[in-house]
Formats: sequence, C-alpha cells, structure tokens
Amino acid sequence: MKNVAIVGGGASGLMCAIVVAQAAHTVHLFEQNEQVGKKILASGNGRCNISNTHLHVTDYFGENPAFVAPALEAFSFTDFEAFCAKMGLLLHTKEDGRAYPRSFEAKAVTSALLHYARHCGVTVYTQTPIKQIEYDGELFRLHVNSHRYHAVVIATGSLAAPQLGANDSGHTLARQFHHTIVPPYPSLVQLHLKSRCHHKLSGVKQHAGVTLYIDNKKRAEVTGDILFTKYGISGFAILDISHHASFALMHHHNVTLGIDLFESMPRQQLLATLKTLCSNLSRYTIVTILALLTPSKMAPFLLHDAAIDAQTLGAEMQSKQIKKLTNILKDWRFNVTQTHGFKHAEVSGGGVDTLQINPETMESLHVKGLYFAGEVCDVVGRRGGYNLHFAWASGYLAAKAISTL
Ligand SMILES: Cc1cc2nc3c(=O)[nH]c(=O)nc-3n(C[C@H](O)[C@H](O)[C@H](O)COP(=O)(O)OP(=O)(O)OC[C@H]3O[C@@H](n4cnc5c(N)ncnc54)[C@H](O)[C@@H]3O)c2cc1C
Repeated sequence: MKNVAIVGGGASGLMCAIVVAQAAHTVHLFEQNEQVGKKILASGNGRCNISNTHLHVTDYFGENPAFVAPALEAFSFTDFEAFCAKMGLLLHTKEDGRAYPRSFEAKAVTSALLHYARHCGVTVYTQTPIKQIEYDGELFRLHVNSHRYHAVVIATGSLAAPQLGANDSGHTLARQFHHTIVPPYPSLVQLHLKSRCHHKLSGVKQHAGVTLYIDNKKRAEVTGDILFTKYGISGFAILDISHHASFALMHHHNVTLGIDLFESMPRQQLLATLKTLCSNLSRYTIVTILALLTPSKMAPFLLHDAAIDAQTLGAEMQSKQIKKLTNILKDWRFNVTQTHGFKHAEVSGGGVDTLQINPETMESLHVKGLYFAGEVCDVVGRRGGYNLHFAWASGYLAAKAISTL
C-alpha cells in the first residue's frame, strides 16, 4: 500500500483520488477552498457540461496538442459514463454530443464525487492550501503534516476564475521541480473592442458568422451568437474563437474580427435583396430600410462605416453605395484590444509544459513520483465539455499509473 497526496480537489484531483483509493492505496486530498469542486459547481452555468461524446485531439489546443491523445484513449466518454453510473450519477446527452448530469445540476456532480471519494476511502482536507512540497529523491513531504508520500499529484487547475479560488500555485510548485511554465492566458473569454459603437450596442444579440484575423490573415471562422457589451463583445461564437485571439494578443499581434450579419445569405443574394428593397421602398430612408433587416440600433453605425448618409432615400442609393453596404453587412470589422481577463475566462491556456510530462502516465519527466492532472497543464479544450473531460481523463491516467507503483 502506498501513500498518495493529491493537491487540488477539483475535477481532476477528485477523479484521481477515487481511482487511486480504489486500488487500495492511502489517499490524502488537499483542497485550499472550504469545499471541493467549486469550478465544477460554476460550470455550464450551474448545469455542468460534464463531457462530450465526440472527443478528439483536434478539440484541444496548447503547444503540444497531441499530448491529450493517450488520456482520451485510456478514458473515453463511454468509460466516463460507466464511471459516473457507478457513482450513481446518470448522464443526459444532447444531440450535438454535449453531456450533462441527468438532473442538469452541477451540484449533483460534486456531491457524487465527494461521497464516492469518501466511500472509496479518500481522506479530504479542505481549507488546506499546499505551498511547499519537499522531495528527498524517493519520498515527498508536504508542509502541512508529517506524512511521507510515495506519489504527489498536482491538480491545482489554472488561473481562470480567481473568484472561485483559481491561482498559479500549481505552476509555482511545478517550478520548484524545474518544470517550465508556458505563459498562461485567458481562454473561452469575452473580447474588448476598439470601436465607436460597441458600448452603444450593448445588449444587442445577433446570430452571425465570425472570422478572426491575426495580422490580417484568416485564423478561425465560426458561426453562432454574438452579443455586444459595454467593453466589447461576448456570445458563444466569440468564446469559440477567443483562444486564438487571446494567444495572439499575448504575443502582441494585431487581432481583428470580421462579423457577417447575413451568414446564411450569399453576398450576391444580399446585394440583389438590398437593390430590390431600395427600389421598392424608394421613399424610405436607408436607415429605415436597414433597420428592417438588422437590429435597429446597429443601422446608423453600419451606415457610418459604409460612409453613407443615413437620410439617403432608397431611390437615391447608388449601386456602389449598395455594394459598400453589402460588404459591411458581410464583413463588419472590429479591432480587438484585449480579452476580458482571467476573472471572466472559463479556462486558461498555458501551464506546465507538456513536453516535460509523460502523456501515457501524467508523470513528471524530471521527478519520479510527481504527477500532474487537469488544467494545470498546458492543455485547453474547446467549449462543450472538453475541458472537464480532459480533467477526468488525465486524473484517471495519473491514478492508473500510481496504482501500479
Ligand atoms: C464559469 C466556468 C464555467 C465552466 N464550464 C465548463 C463546462 O460547462 N464544461 C467544461 O468542460 N468545462 C467548463 N469549465 C472549465 C472546467 O471547469 C475546468 O476545465 C476544470 O474544472 C478543470 O479541472 P481541474 O481539476 O484541472 O481544476 P479545478 O477544477 O480548478 O480544480 C483545482 C482545485 O485545486 C484547488 N487548489 C489550487 N491550488 C491549490 C493549492 N495550492 N493547494 C490546495 N488546493 C489548491 C482549487 O481550489 C481547485 O478546487 C468552466 C469553468 C468556469 C470557470
């Protein structure tokens, strides 16, 4: 029987603790907060998008995305679903593959994990932040007790959502063991814009196509909801491209968004439609016509950017003006200045360099017996349950390796 310390009582730490305890090892789990799984509780707006049936390496980013492959292989969605069923947690899977607890309540997830961890023999210490780990070349010692541990798992999460207790302590601990930290940056996060109108459009929501340009080169394209806010822009489409935007901003690149307000209508069709409307509604002002097609608050700003006087009558609109307006409606450009920060980010890119971790076991390549799990690593997934799944899978992988020590 081995002694194992798990630092961090989030998704990856709880999963790891349970699986190690099931192999009859002594497991101490240390959580700095007054309760475990605070981020799980906040996930999916309290509904917890717990995993996804379609998991693939390409759903993950980081300097070394292939790193996630062994974890996804060792612990698939089906494996996770079976694990949940053993804990008494049934899942509901949506058509698009996103999985939730059947109750659609995140607290069912933390409750199931905590009860099952205790049932399997895990000792949980809350309000116990781990600040120092000593290693004598064979065994580990934490500053909070006099135990000697055969293995330590750093499962401290990322910097995203500090209001839930997120911090960089895992990075600090990893550095003590000469691990390199890829600089962290917010991901799945809203973006700040430099424009004359976003704050005036605050609250306006629209289904749109969004293209992300880095230094004027197309980097990513998504379709979904956008929402203008006082600081810039939010919405699922923005969160979906935010990873690339945030990474580029961190490296001081020029980041631009192109918004297609008529993503389901080809350019030529929109041009023809506008021409017909200007002709049929010849006595309407163009701002009135446009307000029939787009959220009314947007119309004056679109016309300003197309350099068209809002009071121009439909009959007065020239072909080149209609063309210009079509171009703006299909590709409305905004400069992105920064992200909305770690406080509002769901996850964080960067973290412990995965080139220094064995992807098959999650063990440090520097220190035998030291393991990493979850978001503390330089792995970030797409929105849709991918981040929690990596936490489960990497915690499981580390536990399996520790179980055979
Ligand atoms: C608002 C929000 C919504 C989200 N929604 C989803 C979603 O629907 N689906 C999805 O897949 N992902 C979602 N995520 C991301 C997901 O929650 C994380 O990717 C996942 O929780 C990471 O698990 P983890 O175990 O690596 O870290 P965490 O769950 O963050 O756990 C780390 C734990 O370690 C503790 N800790 C930190 N330092 C120390 C220390 N020194 N000593 C002791 N304890 C320490 C922390 O308090 C924390 O409890 C969301 C995140 C947020 C913030």
